[in-house]
Amino acid sequence: MYDPKSKKAEEFIDDAEIKETLRYAAENRNNIPLIESILEKAARLGGLSHREAAVLLECGDPASIEKIYALAREVKRRNYGNRIVMFAPLYLSNYCVNECRYCPYHHHNTHIARRQLSQEDIVREVVALQDMGHKRLALETGEDPVNCPIEYVLESIKTIYGIKHKNGAIRRVNVNIAATTVENYRRLKEAGIGTYILFQETYNKESYEYLHPAGPKSNYAYHTEAMDRAMEGGIDDVGCGVLFGLNLYKYDFVGLLMHAEHLEAVFGVGPHTISVPRVRTADDIDPDEFDNGISDEIFQKIVAVLRIAVPYTGMIISTRETQQTREKVLELGISQLSGGSRTSVGGYAEDETENSSQFDVSDNRTLDEVVGWLLDLGHIPSFCTACYREGRTGDRFMHLVKSQQIGNCCDPNALMTLKEYLEDYASPETRAKGEAMIAQMLPCIPNEKVRRLTAEHLAEIAAGKRDFRF
Ligand code: SF4
Ligand code: SF4
Repeated sequence: MYDPKSKKAEEFIDDAEIKETLRYAAENRNNIPLIESILEKAARLGGLSHREAAVLLECGDPASIEKIYALAREVKRRNYGNRIVMFAPLYLSNYCVNECRYCPYHHHNTHIARRQLSQEDIVREVVALQDMGHKRLALETGEDPVNCPIEYVLESIKTIYGIKHKNGAIRRVNVNIAATTVENYRRLKEAGIGTYILFQETYNKESYEYLHPAGPKSNYAYHTEAMDRAMEGGIDDVGCGVLFGLNLYKYDFVGLLMHAEHLEAVFGVGPHTISVPRVRTADDIDPDEFDNGISDEIFQKIVAVLRIAVPYTGMIISTRETQQTREKVLELGISQLSGGSRTSVGGYAEDETENSSQFDVSDNRTLDEVVGWLLDLGHIPSFCTACYREGRTGDRFMHLVKSQQIGNCCDPNALMTLKEYLEDYASPETRAKGEAMIAQMLPCIPNEKVRRLTAEHLAEIAAGKRDFRF
């Protein structure tokens, strides 16, 4: 029944294939020759199948685990350099008709205030985000066809792209809204969204149906096939993810990779990003109900194996995780990070009320503190949105990443957008650290002409010009 090319959820995420994969991985957990051969394959940067990745995730041999981590660091370095792309979530509405058992926005939670931002509210929120220095947003809404229809989302995107405040601009709007129709995806594409993000939560149909007892989201197939409809609607950058801790993590890990294989098999391009959220405490959610929580150690292993299994897919981590955890997984494969996040509706322009957040934030630092911290760790915080704006999406984006030209494209873009941030928003300490990073990294740009142009643009940015890109 398993068929990665099938358009039916239960055939491309086949339960029997996942269980057989887990059995195979458990059987081979100490099969060192097999593990070595998988690592050799992964080192060629061609990615791994879900079965091969499952063997690495299951591996219990300490020396082999060290090799997995070393290879993940190497893949990260070769494909993403030391850049980390920054973004912020923006919650537009917390009305929701669904009954997800793990989310405080579920329909029957009467403790929280329901709110939908007006277009004027959105302007205030976005100005606050621009004043922090953000250029890339992820829009978040609950699902409610009456209180948050697609027309509202489209209007909000138009408002956001239209806000020009001082030197600020939101240059890429990614969207995380409920599964919808091909027609609505087409409208989102026309509105100029970057990535369409939808978390599967869990790939296990039985758990999924238990966790989503009512509302449109309770339809497992409709939810699981959403990325296919998004791609049919012309969106070629899609972002997948599971909420680790809802179900047994090994099952969801395999399901996630099978989903990526399916998109690759049908559309010729896998997910643009994968997010790795873990269940967090929240209002009206019984923490004892979710006892599949994963340790930091397992979380790190998941990130490392994903990094080598899908080497060209960006990986995202949010402020759900602590500074310590974020620090650890950055080097193992994470390429995008949120900073200064608020997870409630209206949380940037107003003080957050205690119980209106979707989840508790573990990293409460300001964007400036996060940028300074990344620089201290030797990463380049990047506010780059160049690919989307140059039309390098889908397979054109993958071509750039696979061509090993990132040193001549992503690195200069990172340095120039960091320079903009330093000029417009940074504290004196962060600015000093950032200038030192730019001075250190500029000579490392391989192509002489690109290096010279970057130096010229950096000088122009210092003189007040903005928005250069390769
Ligand atoms: Fe609604 Fe999304 Fe929360 Fe489910 S996870 S209750 S769909 S906001
Ligand atoms: Fe990402 Fe493209 Fe910018 Fe590189 S140039 S950092 S791939 S948006």
